[in-house]
Amino acid sequence: MKKNCDIHDLNVVVTIDGPSASGKSTIAKLLAKKLKFEHLDTGAIYRAIAFWCHQHGLSEEDREKIIPRLSEVHYTCEWVEGIQVHRLNGMIVNDQIRTPEISQFASKIAAIQEVRDLATFIQREMAKDKNIVVEGRDAGTVVFPRAPIKLYLIAKREERAKRRLLELQKKYPGQKEQFTLEETIKELEERDERDRNRALSPMKKPMDAVTIDTTGLSIEAVLKKIVKVVKQRRPKAPGKIWTKLIGYKRAQTTFLYKISYLTTFVIYKICFRLKVYGLENYPCDGETAAIVAPNHSSFLDPPAVGVACPCELHALGIDYLFRVPLLGWLLRRINVHPVSSQVTDASVLRTVVSLLKEGRHVLIFPEGGRSHDDQLLPFKRGVGVLAALTGCCIVPTYIHGAFEAWRKGRICPKPWGRISVVFGKPLHWKDYEEKFESRREAEAAIMNDLKDRILELRKDFSSQHKQG
Ligand code: C5P
Repeated sequence: MKKNCDIHDLNVVVTIDGPSASGKSTIAKLLAKKLKFEHLDTGAIYRAIAFWCHQHGLSEEDREKIIPRLSEVHYTCEWVEGIQVHRLNGMIVNDQIRTPEISQFASKIAAIQEVRDLATFIQREMAKDKNIVVEGRDAGTVVFPRAPIKLYLIAKREERAKRRLLELQKKYPGQKEQFTLEETIKELEERDERDRNRALSPMKKPMDAVTIDTTGLSIEAVLKKIVKVVKQRRPKAPGKIWTKLIGYKRAQTTFLYKISYLTTFVIYKICFRLKVYGLENYPCDGETAAIVAPNHSSFLDPPAVGVACPCELHALGIDYLFRVPLLGWLLRRINVHPVSSQVTDASVLRTVVSLLKEGRHVLIFPEGGRSHDDQLLPFKRGVGVLAALTGCCIVPTYIHGAFEAWRKGRICPKPWGRISVVFGKPLHWKDYEEKFESRREAEAAIMNDLKDRILELRKDFSSQHKQG
């Protein structure tokens, strides 16, 4: 078991979503230039996949044939002398992917889950470790839900159609008469309708996005508005001292989170000689949502995991703690959300779902309560249900030593114990969803595997620490 984790620095992602011809591409390019960021045109990825299908004689009805062959699609994009060069399997396809036919086809295949998964993977790979402006339909909602700056561009239908018409007439001067305003309006409407109403990642305004109506505005005026938003929302680089003390990712959290983290870290290091293992397994890429799921036998467990975790963590706390003056105030500020001790609380489920949908990490004990003898209690269904609802991954986690330090029934902890936290390889909901026919079966299987993994981590930990 290795003890260190390679944590990449977080970069600034600006997402620009919105309907066709709302001005996304023009603005995204200019904004990227102004901010000295990279620019990612996500529509080009869908267009390149559509063009590949077209080249291979596959239509949108050939879903079953397209899916197994998606691994043959290799899309790359680079800037050459100020021009973006899109390549499909090495061939430059800048013009081929911009025809009206491919526009329609792209929006049809964009409704296929596997196509979206591939496009999302490509986008995240391309954005890794970069400051980047990403334009698309689901950039702020699905691909980069934690982007600090999200914009949603809109414009009146006629104006969007006029812009698209001009673009087409400029591109195909010989066929000017072929393009009419009515046809262009129809084409845009069809595409937007499909993009808005598809079941998967439909085009919609991210909740935390700023909407900008570009109708009647010059490009310069839109850019000016957006630069103002970027200036207001751009996260400040964390201070060097904090970064050195607690790492770059934690240094981006609120002041109270940082202070609480540092205090808990010092206490756990001194009193319980806290050690963390398996950090190389931890999904700390900044985008993957995760439930951190450990065994639970002590009040010392939640802070131990909070300190061990390389990312900002959210947790649930029994509601009566929030009634204690000051404590409730503090808990809310360090990402602890109240959960009712009496009834099953639907609002908690909603809170956790929305946290996970934003790509955050949430600590949930699958046993639902503390074990009185350090043996695993039967697991409740909650973690599996949440994974199914959000598609997040589950990180099996084993906590060793907290039971000895403060078991159920003791009034106060025994200091000078040893606590270790071990992270296992994450379980991905997608793997279970694909393997099982019913959601219920998949949920049961992921919970079984979670239990087995925690037991394995315990076994490995015990045998390694016996040997020395
Ligand atoms: O933005 P652009 O017009 O190039 O996109 C072509 C099509 O690709 C869109 O109509 C949409 O169906 C799909 N698309 C998508 N998600 C994105 C970007 C584009 O579904 N992020």
